Amino acid sequence: MTAQPNPAAFLATLGKPAAGATPVTVAFGDGIGPEIMQASLKILLAAGAKLALEPIDIGERVYLSGNSAGIAPEAWDSLRRTKVFFKAPITTPQGGGFKSLNVTVRKTLGLYANVRPCAAYAPFVATKHPSMNLVIIRENEEDLYAGIEHRQTDEVVQCLKIISRPGCEKIVRYAFEYARAHGRKKVTCFTKDNIMKLTDGLFHKVFDEIGAEYPDLEKEHWIVDIGAAKLADNPGQFDVIVMPNLYGDILSDVAAEIAGSVGLAGSANIGEHCAMFEAIHGSAPRRAGQNLANPSGLLLGGVQMLVHIGQSDVAEKVHNAWLKTIEDGIHTYDIYEEGVSKQKVGTQEFADAVIARLGQRPTTLRPADYAERPTMKLPTWKRKPGAKKETVGIDVFIDAPGIVADDLAATMKKEAGSGLTLAMITNRGVKVWPGGLPETFCTDHWRCRFMAEKGATLSHAAIADLLGRLAKVGVDFIKTEQLCTFNGEPGYSLGQGQ
Ligand code: NAD
Repeated sequence: MTAQPNPAAFLATLGKPAAGATPVTVAFGDGIGPEIMQASLKILLAAGAKLALEPIDIGERVYLSGNSAGIAPEAWDSLRRTKVFFKAPITTPQGGGFKSLNVTVRKTLGLYANVRPCAAYAPFVATKHPSMNLVIIRENEEDLYAGIEHRQTDEVVQCLKIISRPGCEKIVRYAFEYARAHGRKKVTCFTKDNIMKLTDGLFHKVFDEIGAEYPDLEKEHWIVDIGAAKLADNPGQFDVIVMPNLYGDILSDVAAEIAGSVGLAGSANIGEHCAMFEAIHGSAPRRAGQNLANPSGLLLGGVQMLVHIGQSDVAEKVHNAWLKTIEDGIHTYDIYEEGVSKQKVGTQEFADAVIARLGQRPTTLRPADYAERPTMKLPTWKRKPGAKKETVGIDVFIDAPGIVADDLAATMKKEAGSGLTLAMITNRGVKVWPGGLPETFCTDHWRCRFMAEKGATLSHAAIADLLGRLAKVGVDFIKTEQLCTFNGEPGYSLGQGQ
């Protein structure tokens, strides 16, 4: 095993930054992180990148020192000062109590757009999809990654899926602007709005609304399951794909892997104020300290960073030298293939091979071109006047193991009081009263829906009174959800089977 590089010693060899260098916060990360970061920085600096690096400590060591966020308070000062973060992958320790640092950084700094280009490098890197050249634009702050989870009863846990109109508008606008600025022809949206009509439905609706402002671009929407199948089978048919957070997380790994290797893809996390650049893969702890890992994903993240900070000429030089290295068959173990590759190299030798090719361009692969592009128009999101909201009912969730739905209904009807009617009871979303089937499996987690009389609205005081009555008869309510209309449109879903 080769020793892990020492980031401090490496940084000390770099000397003073060049005049006019851009301050960049850098984290060497865990596992393969220090090796691939050192290799990437060596290449970027050899190409002439003007970077004033500010190292911060994040990840496993910080977690294990008792900081459950994995990032020290002073690291935020550096990030807020430089506004540019070049980050190697980190290890999130297993087990409860540790929050994902990646999610925390993305959300705290408002990095709403995660841009993940996935291209094939055929015939030099084995792939079943030689024509693949797509960009996944993943929403980065919302969805199930809000991380709001609760154990509500003995048997049931829940995770809240949060989708907001500002979140959808920002990411969808970003996708269309990105497509236009990068000469892409089509933007595809993946959602699951046949099931999640309000959350994914909003994402799809905003896609249609904003898409109408881009008549020059082709638009399409796929339900994510068939969309994912098409992506895996024929990725060449996609150009830019925009998706909510979870689908984007999963499918960008799939896309990178079928393009050649998860080790080849870089990613940019873009916000209104700050940006972070990284590889899409993790810290691959089993490969750490062996000089084996492919630094390409992080390097290509670094190339995106150079474009972001206005050093496009250096970005182009690095990208073309990297393409030439790939074309020359100098490959790390993950993409090495007998008969195709010429030389199997380690992380640092790969970096040296790229450095030796700075100034060269690929002859078969399409050279990178970072010439002036149209500026993306990304206006700051502004709140519009809100819809008229009226509360017309309430869902009361109840912990009641072993109860029969009809018995629960009898109690609820009795306590509903005047002006409220028990409309239905569901268990895990399926209607079990009125008219449930004995075959339906029920847990200890029930939802009782009360509706105000037609045309009437429900006050907070009336809700508190209802809960007071339920408490008096010993009902273990665990949460409530108000049922509201917005300009008369219901803001809640029906029960399955209702
Ligand atoms: P991983 O992406 O780290 O590695 C999975 C496998 O992919 C590795 O075993 C290796 O075979 C291959 N691989 C990944 N990167 C490679 C590279 N550069 N070169 C060659 N092969 C490469 O995924 P994992 O093993 O599920 O996660 C390990 C740790 O990374 C976990 O602690 C996880 O939380 C963390 N993680 C961090 C980030 C991040 O910092 N952005 C992202 C994902 C996972």
